[in-house]
Amino acid sequence: MLQSRFAFHADITGFKKLMTINIRYALPFLLLTACTHKEPIMNNNPLTIVTTCQPDRAPVLHTPAKDVEFPLSQEIKDLIAGMKDLMEHKLYAAGLAAVQVGAPYKVIVYQVTPEALKIREDARDVVPPTALINPSYEIIQGSGTTFDWEFCFSVLDQGGKVTRPTSIKYTGYDEDGHFIEGEAHGFLARLLQHEIDHVNGLLCSRLYPSGGFYGPRDAMFKIREEEIAKKKELST
Ligand SMILES: [Zn+2]
Repeated sequence: MLQSRFAFHADITGFKKLMTINIRYALPFLLLTACTHKEPIMNNNPLTIVTTCQPDRAPVLHTPAKDVEFPLSQEIKDLIAGMKDLMEHKLYAAGLAAVQVGAPYKVIVYQVTPEALKIREDARDVVPPTALINPSYEIIQGSGTTFDWEFCFSVLDQGGKVTRPTSIKYTGYDEDGHFIEGEAHGFLARLLQHEIDHVNGLLCSRLYPSGGFYGPRDAMFKIREEEIAKKKELST
């Protein structure tokens, strides 16, 4: 059951940092963009996260993203670099989709860190920061399901556990335009489903009501922290 401890930890750390950034820097910027923002911000770094709490920017989260053409434009290269930087060094996230920074393109980045392997029961292999372009997935029928915590930097008012297929086949392209296909299981399958769903305009919060366990984000974090503490207690 304790499959998303890293994501949870990462979410807490990232969320606190995000709030710090918002309070210190981003709020005036967001207030400014609320009045002037027309097109997605592409080449600014740091990128800012779009949330469902921002009515003027949120539509991109609910709209299927556009295909990316190869060779990559400088704009898309800059976007991917900015997303990786945001994921690795600012949010400490497991993944991020371009729509979450206001760019309506089929681009995701993701990673499975060595730390994740230590604390996740279903994280099998380290994955370095990776971009997947024009990604898609299909469920491997009969692989079963997992029920686990899932949070999203674009959904600041909710958190919870959702059921996902355990295994998927996925496809996409790397940054050089090479076709990629593979199978993912456990945590990586959950991560890719979460990010590729973003590309299709779907948020994990859509899964909360369908047999999920969900509620206010802060309350869910508290429950998750208690689960982690209990697990540590049992393992010592
Ligand atoms: Zn998300």
